[in-house]
Amino acid sequence: MKLLLIGSQASNNILRHPLPVLQYTSLPDVIHGTACFILDPADPQQQDALLIHIRQHPHWFAFPVFTVQPSPLSPYLSDGLPPDDLLIRIEQFEQRYQILKVDPEKGLTERLLTYLWLWPGRTLMAKPHPESPRLYDYPLAALWVDQDNELFPWLHSLEREGLIEGATLVDRVRYCSVCHSGHLNYVEACPECGSIDVAAESALHCFACGHVATQTDFLHSGHLSCPNCLSQLRHIGVDYDRPLENYRCHSCHALFVDGAVKVRCLESGHEQTPEQLIVRSIRHYKLTDSGVMYMRNGAQRNLIPEWIGAHVTEEHFYWLLLWQNKLALRHQNSHLVVALRYTELATVIYQLGEAEAITRIDALTQRLQSVLRVTDVCCHYRDDMLLFFLPNTPANHVSVITGKLIALSEEQTTQHLRLDFRLRALPDPTLDDNATIWVQQLLGEFTS
Ligand SMILES: [Zn+2]
Ligand SMILES: [Zn+2]
Ligand SMILES: [Zn+2]
Repeated sequence: MKLLLIGSQASNNILRHPLPVLQYTSLPDVIHGTACFILDPADPQQQDALLIHIRQHPHWFAFPVFTVQPSPLSPYLSDGLPPDDLLIRIEQFEQRYQILKVDPEKGLTERLLTYLWLWPGRTLMAKPHPESPRLYDYPLAALWVDQDNELFPWLHSLEREGLIEGATLVDRVRYCSVCHSGHLNYVEACPECGSIDVAAESALHCFACGHVATQTDFLHSGHLSCPNCLSQLRHIGVDYDRPLENYRCHSCHALFVDGAVKVRCLESGHEQTPEQLIVRSIRHYKLTDSGVMYMRNGAQRNLIPEWIGAHVTEEHFYWLLLWQNKLALRHQNSHLVVALRYTELATVIYQLGEAEAITRIDALTQRLQSVLRVTDVCCHYRDDMLLFFLPNTPANHVSVITGKLIALSEEQTTQHLRLDFRLRALPDPTLDDNATIWVQQLLGEFTS
């Protein structure tokens, strides 16, 4: 991998270990293989132009790019300052780049996931964008979409599919219910007639007759007297007080405390109440475990191939446990729940390299066939953890399954992979109405 320095040679000092760096004054036209950019141009505008060029480039967009000086777009498009372990990180990047199973030219989703996966720790950052009706923007993704209004729906669909998730909550914004613009004006209006011609007013309340009117109505040649009963008002709290009503409608003359809040959309002119607005959270996005899996496999599939058993979501699995447990209690059936974990998977991936680790995990999951049946239900609980429901498994069968899993686990020691598992028989009276806690208790045994 080449290290390209664009700008002054002085910034070479920021690299802890002097590395062979190719220096350029501008971006080269062609780069063979992969590259890591270090930008240190004369002015910030030039740096932003370089960042945009690289991130828009069909082949360079995911390459590591470091900036020495900040520029308006550097927090959103660059990878920051070169890290201390630059060489190790570059090596990891290179490894992942070699085993890339996703074609980033296929579409936006592939491109974004590739960008996030190739350099761990990357996030898609939201930036305030006051001119835009959305109020926020994702400068990186905005470089890739043609139509500005496609960006948010696309990100939300990726979030729904579980490929990306919020890393940090940046803000909560409200949009017009008609045109989805965030350019809104909030204004107090009269609760009686709806007019916005209202103003705060200092009102007085005469204790003698109960009359309420503006202070000017009470003022007569420098003294306060009630225009209704003509009594002199000398002491506040004794003769009069200031009522809470402190807004006056200039259209219908109503006096009120809290105005009704009207929201007027500055784009469409549509008027609505605050409750009618669309509320959205703005987040920085990162890759999820499923997103990582997608990148490793080149498709959205779980660790365990489909043929092993029926796959269900976590929610469905919990529901199944509760239902089957109730049935088992009533009809004296017995089932088995198995939790399976690849221990220290992260370390294994680090030691073997991702490609090799995946090959071995695949081989191991193939071997699971000898333990499982087609009717067993599998839930992909976490990146390194699987839950199985083995229906109608008699209690005396537990030792057979335990034996098979131990054998499988021992086979793996030569493969650097370690398999840990826990079994729990159903019915279990402690599994009453919260399967989440029951499963977490089962998984909690792994750490002990
Ligand atoms: Zn009075
Ligand atoms: Zn009014
Ligand atoms: Zn609108």
